Amino acid sequence: MAVLLFVRRVRPRVALVANARPTGRGAPTPDRVTRELTHVFLQKKLLQKLGPGLMHAFIFWGFIVLLPTIAEAAVAIVHKDSSLPLLGAASWFAFASDVFAALVVVGVAMAFFIRKVLKPDRFRGSHMGEADRILLLILAIVVTFLVWNASRIALGIAEVPDSRPVANLLSGLFGSGGGTEAAERVLVWAHLLVILGFLVFLPGSKHLHIATAPANVWLAKDGPTGRLEPNRIDLEAPEEDIRFGVATQKDLSKKQMLDLFSCTECGRCQEACPAWATGKPLSPKLLIMDLRDRVVAEAAGEVELQPLVPNAVIDQVVWDCVTCGACVRECPVDIEHIDTIVDLRRNLVMAESRFPQEASPMLRGVENQENPWGQPASARLDWAKDLEVRVLQEGDPAPEVLFWVGCAGAFDERAQKTTQSIARLLTAAGIDSAVLGPREKCTGDPARRMGHEYLFQMLAEQNVETLNGAGVTKIVASCAHCFNTLANEYPDYGGTYEVVHHTQLLSELIAAGRLQPRTGDGKITYHDACYLGRHNGEFDAPRDVIGGDIEEMPRNRERSFCCGAGGARMWMEEESPRINDTRFEEAVETGAETVATACPYCLVMLDDAAKGKGSDLRVADAATLLAESTLPS
Ligand code: SF4
Ligand code: SF4
Repeated sequence: MAVLLFVRRVRPRVALVANARPTGRGAPTPDRVTRELTHVFLQKKLLQKLGPGLMHAFIFWGFIVLLPTIAEAAVAIVHKDSSLPLLGAASWFAFASDVFAALVVVGVAMAFFIRKVLKPDRFRGSHMGEADRILLLILAIVVTFLVWNASRIALGIAEVPDSRPVANLLSGLFGSGGGTEAAERVLVWAHLLVILGFLVFLPGSKHLHIATAPANVWLAKDGPTGRLEPNRIDLEAPEEDIRFGVATQKDLSKKQMLDLFSCTECGRCQEACPAWATGKPLSPKLLIMDLRDRVVAEAAGEVELQPLVPNAVIDQVVWDCVTCGACVRECPVDIEHIDTIVDLRRNLVMAESRFPQEASPMLRGVENQENPWGQPASARLDWAKDLEVRVLQEGDPAPEVLFWVGCAGAFDERAQKTTQSIARLLTAAGIDSAVLGPREKCTGDPARRMGHEYLFQMLAEQNVETLNGAGVTKIVASCAHCFNTLANEYPDYGGTYEVVHHTQLLSELIAAGRLQPRTGDGKITYHDACYLGRHNGEFDAPRDVIGGDIEEMPRNRERSFCCGAGGARMWMEEESPRINDTRFEEAVETGAETVATACPYCLVMLDDAAKGKGSDLRVADAATLLAESTLPS
């Protein structure tokens, strides 16, 4: 009956996932197998927080080891002297199940200590009562298991009593008479009934993640997290075949739907989210929970099928995201919040034309002048006026390295300094490089992160045509966003190149002795750009370029805190406290004289914060610092 009830309760959720849009993922890849081993079985992401990680690992590993004991109990219900063939008499299994059951008790005690005594803020908004009930059920399962085994030892019917140290200890609670015989029967029934109750309770609870998380981890994106899945738009196709992101639950992919049923409500994503940390309504955890609750309620017919924004989450939640990837990195079950947020934005922008109006000039600029600054293409080379820079003309031989300047690097006065530094360093190192000049167009990153996939698609196709036509094979990009888009997203549009970030190329040139920096004495801190660091795993190259001892901020490398510009947030208003101010204060607290960056967006955001605060802390790109220490001024 319990199994039937479980099937009945879980069926609507299985149907939601089964009927969702296909993902095109699933085939075994080395990444998938590795993730399954490390994220699921070794609990690697959970163990990043040692205490809570161990707590979860004890419970998880305990349950894996204890699975066969369910069959053991079922056999013993039928006949108390019987045991499982092979395993029943195996002393190693008796020992493992006994010790792991005790570890589960320790894990549950730790969980209560964390929840009731430490009360971390990351649980704000989680279903705490439900979690308590689940923990008590787990405790009841292992306690009945241990005490049942203790009664069997006391009765002399346990096959390998000496291999059960904990149950052996507890067996002292029992005599060997009729009372113990009755207790043994009660305990084995209680043990099995609690397990079956847990099974029935599971589908409607967040603990469904026991079943969904392994599948969710398997279906996670291979490769860098900075890559967005394309939402191909063919305007020639029949209207019903064109999808503009996600409007209702019918547009969610299998992975997106599975994400909703995999969330453990642990709040690790919420704790890392810069939007939440600065008091915005967006919490990646609450986003997933709210979407899940709406989807389930709609499927149950409790509410009508409606667009998810604003019926599950309000507009501002969708627009608060800086796509920094902190949530995705922290999530122990590999939920992909950014892809869902961008898909919701796609629908708002392309189908509803509903977005923060202050971002309109950016979208207009990208659409009409092919750059967010709305500048004419002829101004793309203004930064190069006093420099000898080769501009690649149609029909010219391809350079060894194409220098992709990016729109910020071409038009923003502060970022232009970085561009000039890189150009001078490449020349000094004897690199055969060239720029596209007026033929370069925005990569489309801000339009794409904003949700205007069609605009991005057009720009990607045009840029790929130019790059392929010029025979380009290697690109150096000075903007972390351009770098990510060119390296990870252009292959989806036929543009496959060797793409390096300028700090990667410069660090190689330093290592090869082609650039020789002198270490200055000023204290420097470094701000990791999300799209270079967390999304693409490059942490060392910028530090190598800066050289010397870096005064690290408390949040650095994989756990760096965003500057607030990503996800097209650079072109949207932000209420105080602002993310860039928060990050800048962290830089000030290091006591450094300079905060180095490796992305023009970060440079602009941190420089704005410095100006706003009237601070003397200098903001400069790693390339500018290298040029100052290497080249004659
Ligand atoms: S990507 Fe960054 S800003 Fe967006 S939800 Fe995740 S942590 Fe928050
Ligand atoms: S989305 Fe992931 S990190 Fe966030 S609460 Fe859910 S399981 Fe935890």
